[in-house]
Amino acid sequence: MRRWNGWGDEAITYPVSPGAQRYLEAALGPGTPPRDAALAEVVARVPPSRLPAHPLVSTDPEQRVRHALGQSLPDWIAARSGTIAAFPDGVAFPSGNEEVRELIRYARDTGIRIIPYGGGTSVLGHLAVSPGDPPVLSVDLGRMNALIHLDEASHLATFGVGVRGPELEGALRGRGFTLGHFPQSWEYSTLGGWVATRSAGQQSLGYGRIEDLFAGGRLECPAGTLVIPPFPASAAGPDLRQLVLGSEGRLGILTEVTVRVSPLPARESFPAVFFPDFECGMVAVREMVQAGLPLSMLRLSTARETTTNLVLAGRERLVGLLERWLSLRGLGPDKCMLLIGLSGNRVLMRQARRLALEAARSHGGVPVVEAFGREWVKHRFRTPYLRNTLWEMGYAVDTLETATTWSKVPALLEAVERALREGLAPIGEKVYVFTHLSHVYPDGANIYTTYLYRLAADPAESLRRWQILKEAASRAIVDGGGTISHQHGVGTDHRPYLEAEKGPLGMEVLRSVCRTLDPAGIMNPGKLL
Ligand SMILES: Cc1cc2nc3c(=O)[nH]c(=O)nc-3n(C[C@H](O)[C@H](O)[C@H](O)COP(=O)(O)OP(=O)(O)OC[C@H]3O[C@@H](n4cnc5c(N)ncnc54)[C@H](O)[C@@H]3O)c2cc1C
Repeated sequence: MRRWNGWGDEAITYPVSPGAQRYLEAALGPGTPPRDAALAEVVARVPPSRLPAHPLVSTDPEQRVRHALGQSLPDWIAARSGTIAAFPDGVAFPSGNEEVRELIRYARDTGIRIIPYGGGTSVLGHLAVSPGDPPVLSVDLGRMNALIHLDEASHLATFGVGVRGPELEGALRGRGFTLGHFPQSWEYSTLGGWVATRSAGQQSLGYGRIEDLFAGGRLECPAGTLVIPPFPASAAGPDLRQLVLGSEGRLGILTEVTVRVSPLPARESFPAVFFPDFECGMVAVREMVQAGLPLSMLRLSTARETTTNLVLAGRERLVGLLERWLSLRGLGPDKCMLLIGLSGNRVLMRQARRLALEAARSHGGVPVVEAFGREWVKHRFRTPYLRNTLWEMGYAVDTLETATTWSKVPALLEAVERALREGLAPIGEKVYVFTHLSHVYPDGANIYTTYLYRLAADPAESLRRWQILKEAASRAIVDGGGTISHQHGVGTDHRPYLEAEKGPLGMEVLRSVCRTLDPAGIMNPGKLL
């Protein structure tokens, strides 16, 4: 059963070793877990639904609780403490286009707002209901999860949008294909959600971001149906796919999506290299991506993140051996780990590995045993479960991300980390911060920062601490020439910063598209714009 107030399946836990616990206590001070509200307590507080009856709509209070929030830190604080400000008035689980159109008609005719719900993994308040809104219907696309058509000759697959990562890969792998899109939320996030938020998977360097994979689809809007055919390329005016990508449920409900798929790679491996410091690693990574090496991933951790990962791995004896081995090769406390993704046929992979390791060595990189990469692959969708464990130890954990050009990466990374590190100093609390570059391009990189701080007994105080940190880091991003989001989208949490990069005219263009496709403004109000 999926946790209603945390990450993932209730049966799965991610224990932290006593050594890692001591390390965190030394960094932040001892944590005290706040009291958690029980699901029954929250369900009992759900107010009566305001929706007119409809055969496709459930007003079951538990469903309304389970669809009230996503996975942002404010969402977690609200769910864990039972202080959810507002609930959707009902939830619908349509099984096809016709039912989606019927739900849009019902909403339009009765003044209801719609929030499309994919896998509920948004980290930016995309799914939250504002108190005082007119009645809200959450439309859960989870039943629309079938592989509709696979065009093997063209490498195109059309799915219902509610398909989650494992279901989608399962359907493709049986036919010898992969989408290669692996966001860390892959277990629960959906194809529709990926398109609606412009997500990026861990192997985006090889397979592309979702905007490279999204070939076409069908958007049911209050104003009608928008069908986007999957042309390989077209010069017929502006590309409407770019409007649908990142539309965050504001324009309509995506019901079908056609994606570009690839043949399953014959092999995959993830060699790891340690560099003397971050600067050496960054120059090596930049050279590799600018040389166009056929790699599927380059993921470079700062020294602080490298240390944290080694501590959290919990294998103190093995890590000790590694540290001694690396120190004999001249790598000390500033060392940084790079994971290199290789996917494809044997010949190409061998060549790509040779070239990547040559580039790494020329900047002081020291390759280590393959076991590191294998461990990372094994646990890559388990890491989010650590959020549950940390919460239960009394620590909040959140991430934020941006992208900028290579020339600005070092200063922006430092500015974001500093804003977070110093953010709670006035109230005497520490913040533990670490970063990696997780998606790289010839012209720049994504900066992905994780931060931890102590939870307070009062949920309002925990939220206030988050607001201080989010505001400080977002300011640092905007002032430092970064985008407010490389992959998580806008939702409510990034909305105040959007105009800084779109400009007033750009914002008006977006508003006018919303007005055309959704004249009465019933779709996911308050998100994005
Ligand atoms: C632990 C964790 C790890 C994550 N890792 C990554 C990562 O590696 N890369 C990354 O890019 N993101 C990541 N995310 C963020 C999140 O998973 C992505 O934003 C994801 O794309 C959301 O998909 P979803 O199906 O859960 O959508 P939801 O959260 O349900 O919805 C997100 C938004 O999309 C809209 N929407 C959803 N489906 C449709 C539809 N069919 N039609 C119209 N609008 C729709 C919703 O209305 C909402 O505005 C992570 C989140 C968590 C919690």
